Amino acid sequence: MKKLITLAVASALVATVAGCGAKTDKPAASPAASTSTGAAATTAPAKTDGKKPTIGVAIYKFDDTFMSGVRAAIADAAKDKATVDIVDSQNSQPTQNDKVDLFITKKVNALAINAVDRTAAGIIIDKAKTANVPVVFLNREPLADDMKKWDKVYYVGAKAEQSGTMEGQLLVDYFKAHPEADKNKDGKIQYVMLKGEPGHQDAELRTKFSIQAITDAGLGVEKVAEDTAMWDRVKGQEKMAAFLASSENKIEAVLANNDDMALGAIEALKAKGYFKDNKFLPVVGVDATAPALQALSDGTLLGTVLNDAKNQGAATTNVATALANGQTPSKETTGYDVTDGKYVWISYKKITKANMNEAK
Ligand code: BGC
Repeated sequence: MKKLITLAVASALVATVAGCGAKTDKPAASPAASTSTGAAATTAPAKTDGKKPTIGVAIYKFDDTFMSGVRAAIADAAKDKATVDIVDSQNSQPTQNDKVDLFITKKVNALAINAVDRTAAGIIIDKAKTANVPVVFLNREPLADDMKKWDKVYYVGAKAEQSGTMEGQLLVDYFKAHPEADKNKDGKIQYVMLKGEPGHQDAELRTKFSIQAITDAGLGVEKVAEDTAMWDRVKGQEKMAAFLASSENKIEAVLANNDDMALGAIEALKAKGYFKDNKFLPVVGVDATAPALQALSDGTLLGTVLNDAKNQGAATTNVATALANGQTPSKETTGYDVTDGKYVWISYKKITKANMNEAK
């Protein structure tokens, strides 16, 4: 394998500009490329020859508040150790597959993929395995069977059930401290749920475990309404406005699978006169994005759960870099614990106004 390619590396590798960071096995225009020697078999990994490796990163869509934070963290962590070529899959799996093909053609040394459709990870793994380019998935967890397809497949993420449990506990704490929040005094929390994208592990498990945390604490619950708002603030506002129009006087709490949808719900509530003159409804979310922290400090958002974009981004870069350099990802090579030989789990944390500095 070692003799297959001598890499030609352009002297200046510029992150995010397509082509600039790619290695090539053909003589290139750059004088630095003149050492290139011949063709590579299709299964040859691109070698780094001690140079900074190139990582092809495909984000499911750039227009996602949380993923924008992860994207920035990936680029930040890469500064001294890798060149990252970050592309927008525009929420289309076929587009993402094309981007992966392009990265492979450009001979990137590793891939970092935020799948559009997590059940499509198997296709990407097949492509990566054929080309022998290691792949790190992030944020959208591939199915376990797909993760087993190859030993150079990793996942960086956070345990969805943990965030759901914490979100539920935020409401439990509130209702225990504020018995008057049970407006109809029936001993149950009448709630509405704003769900993320159906099928996303964070949408399904946050929904399930947030409610389970409430019943585990001995409180009753009753669902007034539930709908998907696709992680989106505007859709969250629209769905919440519809819930209020049909059942305003029943609703005692709002659970949203992420902060963007929680902030949308808060807008809809503000339009109905909430958050002034003692009119309040507890709203909880997940992510601890900057606008959510602002809402905590304003007293509109009751609580959120830190989804640690910084560490998820840094772990993605570090695992991909280790793989690109031919190392096995471990605590020593990445700075993060690797579980079951394939997974890096970043912890969530409950955030309220009282500890919001920990999320900044
Ligand atoms: C975040 C959402 C984000 C989604 C994207 C989730 O972990 O909580 O805010 O939209 O990931 O996949």
